Amino acid sequence: MSTTHPTRRVAIVTGAARGIGAATAVRLARDGFAVAVLDLDATACAPTVAAIEKEGGQALAVGCDVSDTGRTEAAVARVADELGAPTVLVNNAGIIRDNLVFRMTDQEFDSVIGVHLRGAFLMSRAVQRHQTAAGWGRIVNLSSSAALGNRGQANYSSAKAGLQGLTKTLAIELGPFGVTVNCVAPGFIATGMTEATAARTGVTFEEFTERYAKAIPVRRGGRPEDIAQAVSFFVREEAGFVSGQILYVAGGPKG
Ligand code: NAP
Repeated sequence: MSTTHPTRRVAIVTGAARGIGAATAVRLARDGFAVAVLDLDATACAPTVAAIEKEGGQALAVGCDVSDTGRTEAAVARVADELGAPTVLVNNAGIIRDNLVFRMTDQEFDSVIGVHLRGAFLMSRAVQRHQTAAGWGRIVNLSSSAALGNRGQANYSSAKAGLQGLTKTLAIELGPFGVTVNCVAPGFIATGMTEATAARTGVTFEEFTERYAKAIPVRRGGRPEDIAQAVSFFVREEAGFVSGQILYVAGGPKG
């Protein structure tokens, strides 16, 4: 944590301790934002914060469960106090609890919807107050190619399709206040999340990635930086006429 910089806009990236969120937080700091690195456990955010500070950026580690109303309200208030009013929000936090529908428990369904969809709603509701007050803002939601349907992911694909609807509705409601809302929908990206899927299916991550890469037109798996790059586009000043869009970043056409 460091002192408030009057000219820096403030961005919150959820689930930023690792994976796509960490790469996005680093990228937004390079783009000139002060970044609240938010994740379940504040101590897990330390490496992302250190990476940003090493490059001369400004970052704050924030521990918060995005599915909890009180905690999201408190986290956004803390960011406003310590970094400045947040006007950029990247709803990236996520979990998977895969199972075929006949085996999927209520808990598996509710927890995934709770983090992805309810979490994005709660964070957006808290942050939009600062955005509308500023007359400027950017929200980017992380959907997935799984929104188009994916075996074993009734919970996850529902949440990711829901995020596309949330994106379009928020774009309509918040547009008059200078706020754009867009969605990045990644295909296969090498992170802890896909490593866990490989482990569950009993193959090495290398084999798993190779298998995916063969079916991807650009013939490689995605990297967290590929997604950070797309988020960086949506939050920039010049993208102010782009809103309510779903961008599949999957090495080929989707949707
Ligand atoms: P990841 O490596 O598993 O990182 C997700 C982060 O979110 C973790 O640090 C996790 O913390 C955190 N998180 C989980 N529940 C949270 C909560 N309730 N509140 C705050 N933070 C929470 O995942 P990723 O692969 O980078 O994925 C990032 C986003 O991209 C997710 O929304 C995912 O669905 C989406 N996506 C990923 C892929 C892919 O191929 N990787 C493809 C399409 C979409 P813990 O580690 O403590 O759980």
